[in-house]
Amino acid sequence: IEAQISTIAGENGRTAFVVIVLRDVTQRHRVEQMRVDFVANASHELRTPLASLLGFVETLQGPARNDAAAREKFLDIMRSQANRMSRLIDDLLSLSRIELNAHVQPDKPVELGAVVGHVADTLGPLAQDRSVTLSVDKRVPMLEVRGERDELIRVFENLVENAIKYGASGGKVEVTLDSQPKPQGKGREAVVTVRDYGPGIEAEHVPRLTERFYRVDAAKSREKGGTGLGLAIVKHIVARHRGRLGIESVPGESTVFSVRIDQID
Ligand code: ADP
Repeated sequence: IEAQISTIAGENGRTAFVVIVLRDVTQRHRVEQMRVDFVANASHELRTPLASLLGFVETLQGPARNDAAAREKFLDIMRSQANRMSRLIDDLLSLSRIELNAHVQPDKPVELGAVVGHVADTLGPLAQDRSVTLSVDKRVPMLEVRGERDELIRVFENLVENAIKYGASGGKVEVTLDSQPKPQGKGREAVVTVRDYGPGIEAEHVPRLTERFYRVDAAKSREKGGTGLGLAIVKHIVARHRGRLGIESVPGESTVFSVRIDQID
């Protein structure tokens, strides 16, 4: 709590009133703390691959200078570390751009069936690599919402990519598109779900998954090329579309991420 004390003089010059303003600054401090943590986390995430890159440069200039086989191997690792830094910077820039526009509701008509079709085409090769069967079940011919096509592509790319990465290798990833009556009020909403049959997520982690850099298993996420920002980006885009993001997981059975956005009537 922050206190501000001021006095108001009376006619005879003496203090007539004392005004004490008490302000609850908990929220402000929380936001400030989050900002500090974010900068610290982002710096750490960038410094790790950078330290590894510098280490390999030194080895290449020193002990491995004349070792052709080692050089090839190290250059491969260096390339993947540099790619990781580049992905991280792209994600950080996306997040800040989305946040900057948070108050503007995107309003172009976007057909979600086409968006998901595009995502399935893009991620087909990754699914194939992991022997995952990716299926799309369109239960309605058209599913139109107001939004920003590129951002919605980003949402479903992140969700489907996570389902492929964290789901069971050799398993299934199912995307469904449907239209449902809104729980309150009139009109309908588009509901897109992405389901995988991987190990799932323990309940204690679920509320924190959309925090920046939160990972259930950081080593596993890094190994799979994750930045820890995917679901934070998803959450911000869905919020900008005045939509709702749902996460339900039964560990050992299946995990479902759902996105609900009002349809254009
Ligand atoms: P990352 O870049 O680490 O994938 P995300 O923000 O996309 O970051 O996801 C955060 C974390 O949520 C992941 O590190 C992973 O632990 C967990 N997660 C996301 N999707 C799934 C899923 N389908 N099944 C199990 N865990 C998941």
